[in-house]
Amino acid sequence: MNIILFGPPGAGKGTQAKYLVNKIDGFQISTGDLLREEIKKDTDVGKKIIKNMNDGKFVSDEIVNDLIKKIILDPRKKSKLIFDGYPRSISQAKNLNSLLGDSNQKIDCVFFLNVDKDTIIKRIEKRKILEKRSDDDLETILKRYDTYMKTTKPVLDFYSKNSNFHEIDGGQEISQITRKIEALLDL
Ligand code: AMP
Repeated sequence: MNIILFGPPGAGKGTQAKYLVNKIDGFQISTGDLLREEIKKDTDVGKKIIKNMNDGKFVSDEIVNDLIKKIILDPRKKSKLIFDGYPRSISQAKNLNSLLGDSNQKIDCVFFLNVDKDTIIKRIEKRKILEKRSDDDLETILKRYDTYMKTTKPVLDFYSKNSNFHEIDGGQEISQITRKIEALLDL
């Protein structure tokens, strides 16, 4: 089963992804985590992306698509993928479709965790204290939210017409969201 967790920054995608990894023995694809790892290791990619990440801007499709390709095509991970933060644009959604098609896979379920802007700001400000992420200050949060509205939200149209698309109120408690996901996946 391949699952996409979709929603604005701070919607709780990462938390639910980690839960699903354990529950269905899956593999999380968090492009944010993969990119932060590149910065931490100070790789060539890390050097290129640090400014965009800290400014709340997108990293180029080329870099992100390259990072996820190996994981999607890894036979051990086939049909056990949990996407968290990818795809984030129509062109990434098309790239994902073609990679999945090439490897005889599909998206089985899309969960849209819908959260309003005020809740996101409160949550991310809390997360900043816990995780010390450099892109979690208020100015960057607002930029990331704008990017989401402009570039990522249109991706919803790409998926929302399918019967495997489910919108969930992401303003609920974590456990309530998890229960809803479990019920929809019949876990
Ligand atoms: P996240 O941890 O998902 O909130 O992502 C943190 C940051 O990483 C974003 O604000 C972007 O700068 C970058 N990023 C993560 N995923 C993507 C993606 N799919 N496409 C472009 N940039 C991304």
